[in-house]
Amino acid sequence: MPYVPISPVFRPELTDSAEKRWRAIGEARPDLQPALALQRQLLAKLFELAAVLDRGRLPRLSLPPKYLAAKLARGVPALAGEPIPLPLPALTPTLVQLCDGLAAGGAGEAARHIREAIAGGAIDVGSLLASSLHREQTAIRVGATQRGLSPDLLWLVAELAVSPFVHALQQLLLGSAAAPELRSALDEWDHGYCPACGSWPAVAEVVGGHRTLRCSFCTSAWELRTYACIYCGESGEKFVTAAPDEERKDRRLEVCSACGGYLKTIDLPELSPFPLLSISDIETTDLDVAAMEHGYARPALRELTKKS
Ligand SMILES: [Zn+2]
Ligand SMILES: [Zn+2]
Repeated sequence: MPYVPISPVFRPELTDSAEKRWRAIGEARPDLQPALALQRQLLAKLFELAAVLDRGRLPRLSLPPKYLAAKLARGVPALAGEPIPLPLPALTPTLVQLCDGLAAGGAGEAARHIREAIAGGAIDVGSLLASSLHREQTAIRVGATQRGLSPDLLWLVAELAVSPFVHALQQLLLGSAAAPELRSALDEWDHGYCPACGSWPAVAEVVGGHRTLRCSFCTSAWELRTYACIYCGESGEKFVTAAPDEERKDRRLEVCSACGGYLKTIDLPELSPFPLLSISDIETTDLDVAAMEHGYARPALRELTKKS
C-alpha cells in the first residue's frame, strides 16, 4: 500500500490552518486552552527552525536509492543506523528556546534544569540530538536520570528540536522525488512503524476512507495492506475498533487485547502537513485517556537494528 508523499505547504497557509484547528478545539474543549497555548508557542519555534533549514543545505548523504530499497525490504527503516551529521548551529538555539517555552508553559523547574544542563555543558547537545534522531530512548532516559533530569521531558524536548530536521531528511530521501525502485520499496512497506525513522505513529488520519498512519517524529504517512493491530498484526476478535464517544464516530480507538496496544484514528478532510500533526494528537487526548482507563498503552519504541 502506498507511502503518501505530502507536498510542502507554505507557511501563511499552515499558520492559518493551525489557528482554525486550535480555535475549534478550544471552543469544544476549554480545559485544553493552556495546552493549546503551549503548543502554539512550541510550533512557532518549529516553524522558525524549518525555515532556517529550508534556507540552509541538508547534509549530503551517501544513501543510494538501491541501498535504501534493500534496507526497507528487510523491514529496516531508511535512517536506522546511518551516521547523519546534525546541523547543530541551527538546532541548538531551538532546543534552548523549547526548554524556555516548556518552562513558561507548565513544565517549570524540570524544563529549567534541562536548560541549565545544556548551557553548563552537563549535556552534550550533539550526542543528545543524535540519540534522539536514532530513537535511542533508553540511552536518553538513563542519561537524564544520571544527571537528575526528567527523562520524559528530556526525551520530548530533544525530539521536538530534531523533528524539523528529520522531517526535512524524510522529504529529501523518500519524498515525491524518490527514485522508482525506492518508491516501490516504500509502497511495499507493511509495518506499523515508520519506514523512515522507525517510530510508531502518533495517530492514524483517515481521509476519504484511507487509514493513513502518521509518524509521531518525522510525520511520514503510509497505509497498510491489512486492517489489523499495527503493533502485533492481530486481526481476529482481539482487535477492536470503537468510538468511545457515541456522538463522535469520526474519532475512534483501535485497541488490541493480544498485545495491549492502542491507536487513535481521526477522520479529517486532509492529511496534516508538518508540524501540524501534533494538533491531531492534542485534539484526541480524550481518546488516550479512554484507552488508558481500559488498561491499553502505546508500546515503547522498537529498538532499531543497525544496518543489517
Ligand atoms: Zn518517522
Ligand atoms: Zn496488538
